Amino acid sequence: MQLLQNKTALVTGAGSGIGRSIARAYARNGAKVVIADIDETGGNDTVEMIRQEKGTAFFVKTDVSRPADNERMVAAAVEQFGALHIACNNAGIVGELARVGKYPIESWDRVIAINLSGAFYGMRYQLPALQQSGGGAIVNIASVLGQAGGDGLSAYTAAKHGLVGLTKSAALEYAQRNIRINAVGPGYIDTPMLHQNLPAEQHPIIRQMHPIGRLGRPEEVAELVLWLSSEKASFVTGAYYSIDGGFLAR
Ligand code: NAP
Repeated sequence: MQLLQNKTALVTGAGSGIGRSIARAYARNGAKVVIADIDETGGNDTVEMIRQEKGTAFFVKTDVSRPADNERMVAAAVEQFGALHIACNNAGIVGELARVGKYPIESWDRVIAINLSGAFYGMRYQLPALQQSGGGAIVNIASVLGQAGGDGLSAYTAAKHGLVGLTKSAALEYAQRNIRINAVGPGYIDTPMLHQNLPAEQHPIIRQMHPIGRLGRPEEVAELVLWLSSEKASFVTGAYYSIDGGFLAR
């Protein structure tokens, strides 16, 4: 029996990087997966990869910063697969790099809207669907910057700290309703986001910030998310799990 047999799952930001790896891990372990992303090409590519691996997936174009898109994404999952058991709120952006005293207001609003409000809107519609299906699990993708400060990254850091708090509160509310809700905090992971936001000359400095001495891989994050999403983690809720090569141990 596969880990997520007869389960249906939804992953936001699944058209790239960490989200794509999570969606593929879910599908390889038997789940039917909804790929939600603002990027149609990336989202459809993920669906194609999953189908080539004999999995089941479909794409729903979703901007997580829009409540109505989240409602539509969840409705599509239930309509297509009959129920929703697992959701991973992973979509996120870095935003501008600037000191708080110079931080562009529009960038602050956009980062909070996607990284924090986006996860709230997601859970706002996922939780009733999970209750309807008898329970399940939600994993929110935070960051090491959900626990530590980030120089020049105030909006991102505030959003990720907020996401950890949101995760804990929701976990308390649903602990006796058979829904587990956890946060995962990756260190720097080798994805398009990293390459878009970090010039190559900074990579050695970033690697050194991780005692293991390298960047993480999206597949490594997916392994933890898969476990938290499965019944193997049946006594785990309201937790923040680091996956950061030792970054926060310093
Ligand atoms: P990524 O490669 O940029 O993938 C993120 C995906 O989300 C992209 O397909 C992106 O589309 C999509 N997206 C952006 N805005 C969206 C929106 N409003 N609605 C729906 N989808 C949207 O990033 P990643 O590195 O895999 O990051 C995934 C998550 O992990 C994020 O929450 C990030 O903060 C977190 N994280 C990443 C790292 C890291 O080092 N990579 C470390 C810690 C935490 P576009 O490409 O069109 O924008």
